[in-house]
Amino acid sequence: MSRPLRELLHAMRHTGCALQQPGLTKGQALDELEAKALSWHRGKHATDRAEGFHRLTEGRLQIAHVRSWPAIKDLSRSFPRLIAERRFHCLDNMVLLCPEAHDLYDGTGMFSTGLMQTAARLTWAHPGARGPLLQYLHATVEARSGHQTENTNLLMAAEYLRHDHSTDVQLIVRAFEARCRIAMEAVERGDHTKVHRGDVAVFRMPRWAPQ
Ligand SMILES: [Zn+2]
Repeated sequence: MSRPLRELLHAMRHTGCALQQPGLTKGQALDELEAKALSWHRGKHATDRAEGFHRLTEGRLQIAHVRSWPAIKDLSRSFPRLIAERRFHCLDNMVLLCPEAHDLYDGTGMFSTGLMQTAARLTWAHPGARGPLLQYLHATVEARSGHQTENTNLLMAAEYLRHDHSTDVQLIVRAFEARCRIAMEAVERGDHTKVHRGDVAVFRMPRWAPQ
């Protein structure tokens, strides 16, 4: 995982455990065990808040993946490994969970993938996500030190900002597209010096025939 992606998730801590997002269960068909675990989980966080432990809870949040690495590898088996890596670290595959929710999801599978997908989606729509997403977008376009380009996440962050936060990101996306075009034209001339280090793997990727 790139440093800016880690920083983005760190900056999202104040939005809390993803399984607490309001509207999480709307339209979800929960089985009895899942509903019971979710209710216990809500109670745990309510107690934390009542006792003034919510800051402590923020510090304990863990980065979790909606779909596991083996599941993503299987979904991406027709494509080069880089695609699987990008899908694994894609914004809609990442959530912040308290250790208890993380254990219940990864360890027992008590929470469904569908529930976790909704939790991830709602996290990026949270009003508190706007600032961190904008910061991440700027860092990506400006190719700050240590930053992999992560085109998938760049477009996803731009789309969340446009759709959920009414933020005009056209200028930022155009700047990124211009950078890609310049790099592509240079590669066609045989000049690889214009390729950002984060894009090297993409430009070297062999052509493959989708199955
Ligand atoms: Zn939690």
